[in-house]
Amino acid sequence: MSISFLRRKKHEPEPPPPPPVEDVEAREYSERITLMGRSSDALRLPAGPAVVASLPSIVESIAPGRVDIIEPLPLDLANASPAMERFTELQQWVVARRDLGPVGRHGLWVLELIDALDMTVDTFYCALLHGETDTSGYPEYQAIVGGLASHWDELSGELIVRAVVGWGGLGLRGDTDRIGQRILSTVHAQLIASGYVLGPAEARLPLVGERTGLNCMHCGFQAGAEGAMYCPRCGMRMSRSS
Ligand SMILES: [Zn+2]
Repeated sequence: MSISFLRRKKHEPEPPPPPPVEDVEAREYSERITLMGRSSDALRLPAGPAVVASLPSIVESIAPGRVDIIEPLPLDLANASPAMERFTELQQWVVARRDLGPVGRHGLWVLELIDALDMTVDTFYCALLHGETDTSGYPEYQAIVGGLASHWDELSGELIVRAVVGWGGLGLRGDTDRIGQRILSTVHAQLIASGYVLGPAEARLPLVGERTGLNCMHCGFQAGAEGAMYCPRCGMRMSRSS
């Protein structure tokens, strides 16, 4: 930096002070969206097609309506998110979930936004469990949706299943939390009553974020850990030969 530059800078006149700011008359706008969810502890179930096939019927047994089986996100849309302001992720979400009914879409909206689901690996069995829908079929804010969420344990290959429910939107009712807890307990009890449960799962969710393990040769998903034996997304055995 040259000295002439410094000198010039020094002799620049001070900018005039900003005029005093008076508060302008303001009209206020606000809207409160409340999203709530609950998840039970996860349980271990044996791997196998019969067990997987039984999960929708467990939710069906307590749901008045149909059960949506919502698969994990396709790998090319893995960043999809129902968050309105994340436009690219939202576009991906719309593409990935365009065939879903309003109950499943509402369930994903509530539970993904509060991180109660990880749809990169979870399969979500979702139904309307309590309350009403509007005339377009979308659950009202006090309606409770949910059911079961499952993924595969990376080390044992067992199916990890938990009950999960959610509700919310442009309103909140005082008794919904109590009803939600009761319904969560009912789903959890139905899961145990299926007879498949091996025991509690360790609180070991698949790693979210940086994934460092092998790529699954069946679905292409990258495992969260070097030592992963099974794909958390599709449940197939990781191949270590390549
Ligand atoms: Zn896989």
